Amino acid sequence: MKIANKKVTAERLVRDALEKAKHFEDYHIFTFIDEEGALKKAREIDTKIAKGEKVGRLAGVPYALKDNFLSPRGETRASALMLEGFTSPVTATSVKKLEDEGAIMIGRTNMDAFAHGSSTENSYYGPTLNSHDRERVAGGSSGGSAVAVALDIVEFATGSDTGGSIRQPASFNGIYGLKPTYGCISRYGVVAMASSTDCIGFFTKTLEDMDLLMSIASGRDDKDMTTLPDFYEKSEGYTDKKMRIGVIREFDNDSVDQNIREALKKKIDLLKSKGHEIVELDMPALKYGLAAYYILVPAEVASNLSRHDGVRYGFRSENSKDLDSLYENSRSEGFMPENKRRIMIGNFVLSSGFYDAYFLKAAKARTLIVKEYEQAFSKCDFILTPVSPNPAFKLGEKVNDPVAMYLEDVMSVSLNLAGVPGLAIPAGETKDGISLGLQLVGPRRSDKCLIEFAKELQ
Ligand code: GLN
Repeated sequence: MKIANKKVTAERLVRDALEKAKHFEDYHIFTFIDEEGALKKAREIDTKIAKGEKVGRLAGVPYALKDNFLSPRGETRASALMLEGFTSPVTATSVKKLEDEGAIMIGRTNMDAFAHGSSTENSYYGPTLNSHDRERVAGGSSGGSAVAVALDIVEFATGSDTGGSIRQPASFNGIYGLKPTYGCISRYGVVAMASSTDCIGFFTKTLEDMDLLMSIASGRDDKDMTTLPDFYEKSEGYTDKKMRIGVIREFDNDSVDQNIREALKKKIDLLKSKGHEIVELDMPALKYGLAAYYILVPAEVASNLSRHDGVRYGFRSENSKDLDSLYENSRSEGFMPENKRRIMIGNFVLSSGFYDAYFLKAAKARTLIVKEYEQAFSKCDFILTPVSPNPAFKLGEKVNDPVAMYLEDVMSVSLNLAGVPGLAIPAGETKDGISLGLQLVGPRRSDKCLIEFAKELQ
C-alpha cells in the first residue's frame, strides 16, 4: 500500500532489504542474492505506478525464497552439492502466484540439504545462526527463511514443512510460521522430500500478512493433483465465539523444557481470562508419531531422491570410469550424510523382507493418528501445544547424534502425518532472551479461522 500511495518506491524497499542482507552476511542466511534481478523488478513496478497502471497486492514487497523452490532465478540447490549447476526451467506455482502479485525475491535461503534436519546444520553451505543468539541454531530445515524474517531483512519468506520445518525455526526465532492443511498450497515446483506430508507455507511477522499470503498462494492447481479445491477464502473465519482449546496431556511432562511449559501455562491462562474453555485431551497414539514418521518419510525420501543420478542434471562426479561408478560416486559425493542415512533407512523399510514389519506397521500407526486427531476435534476447536520440547539449542550440540536431532520433532511431525494445519506463534523469551514458541493446531481446512483466532493469544 505504501508503494501504491507513492510514499516509498519499490526500488527503495528492495535496496534496503539488500543492504540489510549484506549487513547480516555472517549469519549465513542466503545461499544466493539476486541484486540485479530484484532491482530490475522493483524499477518495473515503480514505472507501472508512475504511469498509473494497476499493481498487485504484494507490489514491491521484498521476500526470501527457501532454496528448494524452483525458479529460473539462481540455481535451485536445496542447499546440497547434488544440485550444483541446476537452473530450473520452470517456476513453482506458489512462486508464480506471489510474483504475479508483485512480490520481489531478493535471494534464496539456506536450509538443511533437501530439507532433512531440524537445525540447518545439514546444509552444504554450513549452518545459519539464530537471530537472537549467534551461538545457537536457527532451527530447520527452513532456518535461513526464519532468520531472514526475524532480522527484518524481508517482509516474509517461503518455507516447506514435512515434519516441522516451518514451525520449529519460526518458534526458534520468535515469528509466525504456518504449515497449512495438506494440499492447501500447490507443491508443484518444490523439491520433493516426502510427497504425502510436504506442505508449503510462510514465515511472517504479523497474522495479517499470513492471511494475505494464504489468500494469494492457496488453491487448486492442475499441476499438483493433491491440491484441494479453493477453500481458504470461502472458509469461515473467527467470530467472537468462545472456543474450546485442547491441551495434550502426553505433551506435558518433565522432558519438556520448563520455560516452554510456563509459556504454555501463561497462554492457557490468557485464553481462560478471555472466556475460552480449556479441554484436556488424551492422545495416546501420538507416542507412535515420531517412529512412524521416521519410517514413512525416509521411504518417500529414498524414492524421491532416486532421480538424482549424476546423469540428467545437477552434480556429476569427475572420478568415474563407467556408468555404475558414475552413479555411485555422484551420489556419494553429492548427498550430505543425513540424506544418505534417510535413503538407506527408506530402502531398508521398503525392502521385501521388512516391508510388513516396518512400512506397513508405520502406515497403520499413521491411520491411528489421523483418527485420534479427528476424535480430538470432536471435543475441541483447536489444540495448543509446544512446537518442540526445547528452545533453540547450541550449534554443534546435536548434529552428530541423529536420534537426538530426530527427537526435536516429537511434537511437530504428527500434524504432517494427519494433514492438519499448525501455526507457530511467538510465546515470549527465556530470561536469556531465547525465543519461545507454541503451535495452534486445527482440523483440516480450518486455516483461516486458525490465523484469525491466533490474535486471541497476542
Ligand atoms: N526435522 C524434520 C526432519 O528432519 C522435518 C523436516 C521438514 O519438515 N522438512 O525430517
